[in-house]
Amino acid sequence: MAENKPIAFKAEIKQLLDILIHSLYTDREIFLRELISNASDALTQMDFVMLTDRSVLDPDVELAICLSVDEDEKIITISDTGVGMTRDELTTNLGTIAQSGAQAFLNATDEGVDQQQLADVIGQFGVGFYSVFMVAEWVRVTSRSFKPRAKTATWYATGEDTFTVEAAEKEHRGTTIEIKLKEDTEEFANESRLRDIIKKHSDYVRFPIYVGDAEEQTNRQTAIWRQAPREVENGEYNEFYKHLTLDFEDPITRVHFVADAPLRIFSLLYIPTNPERNMFSLRKEDGLKLYARKVLIQEYTTDLLPPYFRFIQGVVDSEDLPLNVSRETVQATALMGRIKKILTGQVTKQLTTMAEKEPEKYAQFWQAFSPFIKEGIASEQSNRESLYPFVRFHTTVHPESWVSLKDYVERMKTDQDKIYYILGDDDRSVARSPHLDYFRKHGYEVITLTDPMDSFMLLGLREFGDYQLQNVAAPDLELPVAEGTPGEEPAPEALPEKDFKKLVECFKEQLGERITDVRASDRLSDSVARLVDPEGSMDQEMQRVYRLMDRDYEVPKKVLELNPSHPMLTRLSALPADEKLSTAVIEQIYESALLIEGLHPDPAGMLPRIQALMEAALR
Ligand code: ADP
Ligand code: MG
Repeated sequence: MAENKPIAFKAEIKQLLDILIHSLYTDREIFLRELISNASDALTQMDFVMLTDRSVLDPDVELAICLSVDEDEKIITISDTGVGMTRDELTTNLGTIAQSGAQAFLNATDEGVDQQQLADVIGQFGVGFYSVFMVAEWVRVTSRSFKPRAKTATWYATGEDTFTVEAAEKEHRGTTIEIKLKEDTEEFANESRLRDIIKKHSDYVRFPIYVGDAEEQTNRQTAIWRQAPREVENGEYNEFYKHLTLDFEDPITRVHFVADAPLRIFSLLYIPTNPERNMFSLRKEDGLKLYARKVLIQEYTTDLLPPYFRFIQGVVDSEDLPLNVSRETVQATALMGRIKKILTGQVTKQLTTMAEKEPEKYAQFWQAFSPFIKEGIASEQSNRESLYPFVRFHTTVHPESWVSLKDYVERMKTDQDKIYYILGDDDRSVARSPHLDYFRKHGYEVITLTDPMDSFMLLGLREFGDYQLQNVAAPDLELPVAEGTPGEEPAPEALPEKDFKKLVECFKEQLGERITDVRASDRLSDSVARLVDPEGSMDQEMQRVYRLMDRDYEVPKKVLELNPSHPMLTRLSALPADEKLSTAVIEQIYESALLIEGLHPDPAGMLPRIQALMEAALR
């Protein structure tokens, strides 16, 4: 018969079949998960169509999946009452459509990705159906579309290069798949084995799955998020998370929130352990899965949480969304705003509890997701304060631990009325910064901010409670008046003013255009000098933001501040001004200050001078 003419599989599908049939022997049970997942997709689509259109074939038939086994013939049959396929759809969907997913799968095998892992995620490549050939000698798919006038057809293949499609009879809407098992997969011709596999892989499928003559459905079906939190065990939560995302790791934490009033919502949200999605991840974009009365309305819903919580995965299901919602109207509903507020509050509460009760876990969260929170503080206009309690940093007093703003404020000295911080590129150079001399000497704790995102964060974090945040490198900084520490050594005597003035002139002459001014500083004790911004220039936070955004800007020329009490300057002032040694020392003081600010363009370039200075010292 002409209509029975074999049709060739697309080339990449042929190759895929070849691998599935000849080289994958482990985990073959996943074929059932894939077929049930397709049936469930078809039922979900049907459900969605019927929200607005009841003029379909068999509008009253139960939305369900039925399995049966012929143990003698070793044939498994899987039927669903989903949207079905027309004859053309059978041909294209199962064999002739160009399949980029098949190619990606083949590439992954070529690259040596573990085959078992690959088989496990075959569904992600959009070629799950073909996994049936891991167990099948032949497969017959008979389908009848929900469109009342479409004709029924049957598709048949043995896993070789071609398949056939011909006219057929089928009473009801939906798809029936018959699988003749291969000799070495006959273990699957067993109802209780199939039930076990369904419980393991397809328990939460939203439609009932019946096996054999049993009236009772095999899967629990009730979506986990609709159960009462006390009824769900930790392991089940984690399993559902993995099923949802295909993340291999358990989440750090979760929020399961079920409410009846004022809104009827069910939500199950997870914070992953790792901010990066893995290559197999099922979640291709940010956003939560949104259901309205159990029907999936939107796969990636980004307006249910603020952008800074976009790393959160999960499901939201509400009874209050109108049933005839379309995807466009969802956004417009005022309800979405109310749900967002509730969910944001729940996540905030959960993080707060975690920070209090499980500080180590919280530290893990902070290390993974701080960029999101910092970005939120920088960009949120209305409720950025709600994020302040989440911030953690290191300080000069506690360089190893994670300190909160609250901890810092509680430890502040009685005479201190500002929260001090220093910006830098890394912890080690910050620790040596001359800007810290005074604070170190008088025992003030200073927050060290060395993460590139910190300068962004500071745009939205200028005060905490009653205290302003203050950069210790700011030129207009007013120092806290420290009570003298008892037993402290008296400061070494300062250079007489006349000598100091002369020295300042030498520095100015020598450094010329490279600096805007040279002057004395009363902030320095251990350090000889430091660089500060001239008054009125762009502040250090903005300079860093510009640098990070790669915007054109020039590092502003700095003011060099000198420590008149430093013994090095006393000796320097005793040298004749034009002596070579004196020139070298001035250069080196300036360049060392550049270096500690992270501004030195060529640190190795200092070596010849350092060499010369050592030679002079040894003379
Ligand atoms: P995916 O499910 O990722 O699309 P599959 O290889 O599992 O990839 O399935 C291929 C296509 O075949 C599906 O997209 C769908 O159009 C069609 N299909 C498979 N099984 C069914 C079914 N039970 N009912 C309706 N269509 C189906
Ligand atoms: Mg599929």
